[in-house]
Amino acid sequence: MLGPWATEMVRQLLAWIYPNACLVCDALEQPPEWLRHGLCGPCYRAITGDGHESCPRCGQTIGPHTLVDGGCPHCRAVSFPFERVFRLGPYTGRLREAILRIKAASGEGLAEMLGRVWAESRGGLLPCSEIDGVVPVPLHWRRKWTRGYNQAEAVARELARYLSLPFWPRVLRRVRSTPQQLQPSRAARRDNVRGAFCVRRGAKLAGRTLLLVDDVMTTGSTLSEAAQTLRHAGAARVFVAVLARD
Ligand SMILES: [Zn+2]
Ligand SMILES: [Zn+2]
Repeated sequence: MLGPWATEMVRQLLAWIYPNACLVCDALEQPPEWLRHGLCGPCYRAITGDGHESCPRCGQTIGPHTLVDGGCPHCRAVSFPFERVFRLGPYTGRLREAILRIKAASGEGLAEMLGRVWAESRGGLLPCSEIDGVVPVPLHWRRKWTRGYNQAEAVARELARYLSLPFWPRVLRRVRSTPQQLQPSRAARRDNVRGAFCVRRGAKLAGRTLLLVDDVMTTGSTLSEAAQTLRHAGAARVFVAVLARD
């Protein structure tokens, strides 16, 4: 039998060998059960506690008394090929930190954790009984090869698994590598992604309701193009889930 002092030594040594570090801020949390899906308490609360009102149609942060009938002032004049946008939060603070981390090859574990966090904290808002499949926004193979993985796919995979929804990662394909979206105007960004996606031959989408998943939504041009491609292939409705809305 080890004495209490020796037991503590062993515990400290194990903690040193296997640091229980938060995947977002690297803070060490002990005991281990304080980490939730790999996040420390403050990161978990900051990432899931979206304190802002957001537009149910476009997911944009809005003021507390903004009327959202038919959309908010940002989106009312824009037509979308998707029904509505569900977000974890705005693209700021610790959520933004987390998303910057998943853009590196080493971020796959964190991306999966964020998919679980999304499902756990926002899954109740989704019309899950109507969703036939979860579709991640694909990366062009060249970008995927340089990054090592597709972050939207990792998020979507865990989100689908947690909510017991069918995961359809190969329905959409990115056929054109689009330059980084630096164009300031919505029209220029829309032109930039036109024709970027296609639906794989044999995918049976007629009448289906899909959940399209990406990490960040900025103007919505990429998500609109992807949703439009799914609709053209017969999908009846497309809902969008993103980690953050810029
Ligand atoms: Zn943390
Ligand atoms: Zn809106």
